[in-house]
Amino acid sequence: MNLLTVEGLHARYGSAEVLHGIEFEVPVDAVTVILGANGAGKTTILRSICGMVRTSGRVSFDGRDITGMGTDRIARLGVAHVPQGRGTFGDLTVEENLRIGGYATTAAVTERAIEQWYNFFPRLRERRRQLAAGLSGGEQQMLAIARALVARPRLLLLDEPSLGLAPRITQEVFAALGRIKQETGTTILVVEQNAHLALEIGTSAVLVDSGRVVAQRPAADFAQDESVRRAYLGY
Ligand code: ATP
Repeated sequence: MNLLTVEGLHARYGSAEVLHGIEFEVPVDAVTVILGANGAGKTTILRSICGMVRTSGRVSFDGRDITGMGTDRIARLGVAHVPQGRGTFGDLTVEENLRIGGYATTAAVTERAIEQWYNFFPRLRERRRQLAAGLSGGEQQMLAIARALVARPRLLLLDEPSLGLAPRITQEVFAALGRIKQETGTTILVVEQNAHLALEIGTSAVLVDSGRVVAQRPAADFAQDESVRRAYLGY
């Protein structure tokens, strides 16, 4: 069963169309990875799903057409977005950032969720009273992910979680994503340049080139296909 279906998606910035009829599916309870070169349109796909850019085509979430709905309504339906660069508030503490994640629910539910994610990321608990700006890059990425999860989304969209992180920290973040999927059943759609790592945790992968989907296949198929790896994935 698919939690998200994207059909004939076009998106433009001003007069420039950058997505030209994107189609793919995000199966429920899986990790789907979007791969592609710089400028292929990966970030724009995530922005389109959450209603941040002008689009045509159809995006269905849990069987419901969410195309053109406002960002806030889409978030309240259960779609959380961790943008590239993480989007945490540097002049707020770790805990204040997490509370923002619960803005659409009650204080009691938010406090329980924050406790859950402190247990999952103990380093965030240790740094709960520190300003987010003082965290390391890896800790900021964990904070951004935890903040998105405080809202208990059904679908978590992540844009380049490895950006600017050392390889060891990137591996930690990806290991956390695997555990999040297993322990909470959250469906994950992740855009990632580090194809090798992403294909290790991905169930299914969507390859994007110049605003078009080249293929969607099980992640293991891409990892084993040398011609695709060389032509598109750079390893
Ligand atoms: P990267 O890996 O570099 O982040 P990407 O695959 O995520 O790339 P997008 O950021 O979606 O690609 O960009 C797709 C195209 O849209 C690129 O040609 C980019 O220059 C253009 N673009 C992105 N954002 C804007 C914007 N705000 N205004 C105009 N053009 C944009």
